Amino acid sequence: MCGIVGYIGNENGVPIVLDGITRLEYRGYDSAGLCFLKSSKIQIFKKQGKVRDLQSLIKKNIIGNIVMGHTRWATHGKPSDKNAHPHMSMNKKLAIVHNGIIENYDSIKKGLVQRGYIFKSETDTEVLINLIEYIKLDSNLSLVEAVQQTLTQVVGAYSIAVISVDDPEKMVVAKKGSPLVIGVGKSEYFVASDPAPFLKFTKRAIYLDDGEVAE
Ligand code: GLU
Repeated sequence: MCGIVGYIGNENGVPIVLDGITRLEYRGYDSAGLCFLKSSKIQIFKKQGKVRDLQSLIKKNIIGNIVMGHTRWATHGKPSDKNAHPHMSMNKKLAIVHNGIIENYDSIKKGLVQRGYIFKSETDTEVLINLIEYIKLDSNLSLVEAVQQTLTQVVGAYSIAVISVDDPEKMVVAKKGSPLVIGVGKSEYFVASDPAPFLKFTKRAIYLDDGEVAE
């Protein structure tokens, strides 16, 4: 078990997401990370260890309106800074946080390597974000279409959140066999593994069903 927290709205999502992943610490984890969009770039902070270790990397004046955070329980690749989430796609335009396991990641990875993809981590998650990137570019799809298309090729259990520098006002989330709930606020949305991270902002929660994708 481990956790995902996302924020999209007009407030600074960085402290909201950091507080949110702290509230998911009870689920167990070995590393924590966070990313946000700034000036058409995805910035990532991640670290093996506790959320407070991650917090010490993040300066108080960092502001993000679209932010994703993660606590990892390693299944593919040892606990390390490199294997911690979020992970970026090779062209650095997409980022993902993921809980769960992609069972057929090895065969997908081999196909991507043949197409020139290079991987920085040992995770199944980095394979997933690069498959989303490949399918998005190859078929000229929107982010949500690319995620939907990719998930038809994936075997496993997952909850994911994905952002793209080309779609700076959107977050795409999906789930199958791993929990994910959307919090609907006033002009802002939250996403989390359970509602605790956003309950002080909104009580309106939408629980995704297995196989559902939301934008
Ligand atoms: N399988 C992924 C990894 O090992 C996600 C693990 C998790 O659920 O945190 O990085």
